[in-house]
Amino acid sequence: MKYISTRGGIEPIKFTQAVMMGLARDGGLLLPETLPVVDEDTQNKWKDLCYPDLAFEVMKLFISDIPEETLKHLINISYAVFDTKEVTPVIDLKDFYLLELFHGPTLAFKDIALQLLGNLFEYLLAKQDKKMNILGATSGDTGSAAIYGVKGRKNINIFILHPHGRVSPIQALQMTTVSENNVFNIAIEGTFDDCQAIVKAIFSDLNFKDKYQLGAVNSINWARVLAQVVYYVYAYFRVFEQTRQSVIFSVPTGNFGDIFAGYVAKNLLSNKIHKLILATNENDILTRFVCKGEYKLGTVIPTISPSMDIQIASNFERYLYYLYDQDSKKVKDTMLNFSKTGYITFSEDEQRKTKLDFLSASINQTETINTIKEVYDKTGYIVDPHTAVGICAVKKLKSNLADTPVICLATAHPAKFPDAVKKAIGKDPERPKALKDLDKKEQRLKILPADISKVKDYISKNALI
Ligand SMILES: *Cc1c(COP(=O)(O)O)cnc(C)c1O
Repeated sequence: MKYISTRGGIEPIKFTQAVMMGLARDGGLLLPETLPVVDEDTQNKWKDLCYPDLAFEVMKLFISDIPEETLKHLINISYAVFDTKEVTPVIDLKDFYLLELFHGPTLAFKDIALQLLGNLFEYLLAKQDKKMNILGATSGDTGSAAIYGVKGRKNINIFILHPHGRVSPIQALQMTTVSENNVFNIAIEGTFDDCQAIVKAIFSDLNFKDKYQLGAVNSINWARVLAQVVYYVYAYFRVFEQTRQSVIFSVPTGNFGDIFAGYVAKNLLSNKIHKLILATNENDILTRFVCKGEYKLGTVIPTISPSMDIQIASNFERYLYYLYDQDSKKVKDTMLNFSKTGYITFSEDEQRKTKLDFLSASINQTETINTIKEVYDKTGYIVDPHTAVGICAVKKLKSNLADTPVICLATAHPAKFPDAVKKAIGKDPERPKALKDLDKKEQRLKILPADISKVKDYISKNALI
């Protein structure tokens, strides 16, 4: 399998090159040349596999330049650190199924991709005798998951930008209390979009990127999307065992990374995934896209589900490539135009095509809180505010779903967002071991203005070369 850019400006490359490149050199995003599809026979062989074995089978379709035994080993060690053998258990809450994605070291779904990415980087760097400086922006969960994916690893330093004072206190502590000295936290005086824009600008300075061997961990890295495809397939099989039906997934969405993995899984299993519900909080650019056919920038609204507080969805371009029938010139022109005007409009035909795959709803903060309470009252189960957005979207879209079983993605452990949970049910969620005593540890961070050159200076002084 080779990889191409959504903007068509690079020669096809191999998987390991795509992992190291992050953002494509022409400013586009990397995608496999073709999206694989698996037939019924293969699905029958897969349906009873344990998580790491299934991950191996799925990833093998997309990776042809890592020896199979090595790939298997990298997958196994990545998922052995999860606190349950199932890795991503599926829970039956009667009205819907819940896919628990928070059993990794930082208690959010991003661990699933970033534990693997850390292992891939370590393997590739050792093999190529290279060093790497990872640069990324986070609205909370990505940063801690990325830091836990690479902390203490040889030949890697990591620089993570987060919006100062705008991530939850626990998320900030998870990042800043890591003591390994290859970890650099940069708190930017601005929003998450500022952080993301700075990272994008630094990556597009190719001299700087080459000099410091910059690598990406944001959801623009293809390996992250790929790792996430696996749990859609895994969850589908678990629910199929019970219901013998195709399924709908509800996905709390920010940067479009997770739900894009769902889109790849939907292709892989052809008609087994009936629809994907794209659930947003009050930052609803993607809901307006699905429902009204406009992709138009607004301003970021801070909410109680901060990991979805975005306006520009960095993975959207990947979907655009398929929506435009793989016309990379059209993607390129559209994205260049979007960077000037801040909006894209879509034809009737394109809107119809989008609605074949997606439904969408935007959920406000009152609805989110009410949903946490309703689920708790009915089942005794506590969900985090991101997960609640996905659950509430299902309720709103109920009349469109017939009797198809719905799987809601539980993207974070509720203890990461104690304020919202307490507001909903009047008590704190129990803190798992990983979150205890965080506030007693020493914190390390550097506060910088939202200024590209200041951030570059800081990286130059601390990078591995
Ligand atoms: C990152 C994140 C999301 C959004 O995922 P995207 O891939 O950015 O769409 C949702 N919930 C939680 C808890 C997250 O950390």
